[in-house]
Amino acid sequence: MMLIVKKFGGSSVATPEKIKAVADRVLRETSPEDKVVIVVSAMGDTTDELMNLANAISANRNTREMDMLLATGEQISIALLAMAFQAKGRDAISLTGPQAGIKTSDAHTKASILDICPARVEAELAKGRVVVVAGFQGIAHTNDITTLGRGGSDTTAVAIAGALNADVCEIFTDVDGVYSADPRVVPSARRMKEITYNEMLEMARLGAVVMQPRSVEMGKRYQVPIHVRSTFSSASGTIIREEYTMEEKEFIIRGVAQDNNVVKIAVLGVPDKPGIAYKVFSALAADHIAVDMIVQSIRNSDKKINDIVFTIAKPDLDQVKEIMAKIGQEIGVIGLEFDEDVAKVSAVGAGMFGNPGIAAEMFGALGDAGINIEVISTSEISISCLVRKDQAKDAVTAIHNRFFKQR
Ligand code: ASP
Ligand code: MG
Repeated sequence: MMLIVKKFGGSSVATPEKIKAVADRVLRETSPEDKVVIVVSAMGDTTDELMNLANAISANRNTREMDMLLATGEQISIALLAMAFQAKGRDAISLTGPQAGIKTSDAHTKASILDICPARVEAELAKGRVVVVAGFQGIAHTNDITTLGRGGSDTTAVAIAGALNADVCEIFTDVDGVYSADPRVVPSARRMKEITYNEMLEMARLGAVVMQPRSVEMGKRYQVPIHVRSTFSSASGTIIREEYTMEEKEFIIRGVAQDNNVVKIAVLGVPDKPGIAYKVFSALAADHIAVDMIVQSIRNSDKKINDIVFTIAKPDLDQVKEIMAKIGQEIGVIGLEFDEDVAKVSAVGAGMFGNPGIAAEMFGALGDAGINIEVISTSEISISCLVRKDQAKDAVTAIHNRFFKQR
């Protein structure tokens, strides 16, 4: 007997036929003794359509009502999927997020899961039923329905798997796993059989979009292996877990990520004296602006002035322009520059820690491709370079070719 959580995204349940196919597949891949929980998203583009409806009423919406609206999408798909199981002779029941015991913060439209009380889910499983749970939603201490942010069904699935101590959480999606680079950019990208939670989180932070990052954090917290695999085939995909178990240790670099959603900010000619960097970055922190790469360098040691360069996420740009205009005056800068034509390319891999040759290889790959590096930053398991945006694809390809030599 296994306890299995399977999550199917919106494209997997977009039509009644697809919903029936999901039920068929689940019945085929599990045995009647298994305890099976299915988490589903809203059918197809339902969530987008619901947002359009809200937009048509008002641009300035109350987030509580937004959640009330968005949560209906998943309520449709769970009922239909439970009916599909019943029609095939398997007992099943649908539960909303609140019914499944998913307790969240009250941050409407981007709530986080605080706790899961799975008593009802366990009781239904004990009756031999397939339990179909609505992804993306929960209930706050205020007794109001909340949603978990776009892509939140992944997080629901992993959290439930954790709370139930499931053997595995399978995420069915329209890609067949996690690749060493975006296959649309690098056709020779490899599908990874395994990747660690930390590497997956780092890939997501640096621009890879496979799963909602919170779901990976949830997997790490509860130590639930997450199997990312295709809805359209029965091939196995990528398992995200704490440690490797297989032969893939030979790859020090696990993936190359690209993020076009960055802006480079240059604060030019700031006085070279204590407290200046504090002034700049505490002002940004006070407004919850996430800053990524930071470089300070001496421009002119006689005149005692420095340049500070850093990157932010593009959606924060307007806010940062305002903050920097104010701070710039206060500390007396010579110039402020905002450059949107940049992209960040990164190599990620837990094995690079304490291995300086890896950074050298990456810079060499970019140099050989004639790509200029503007800013460099590193973490224990990643190296990132800021390059011109129109060279980002070439940069990803060059780095990938260097680390994943054809075998
Ligand atoms: N239906 C929600 C969305 O489209 C949640 C999900 O798909 O995971 O974002
Ligand atoms: Mg969706």
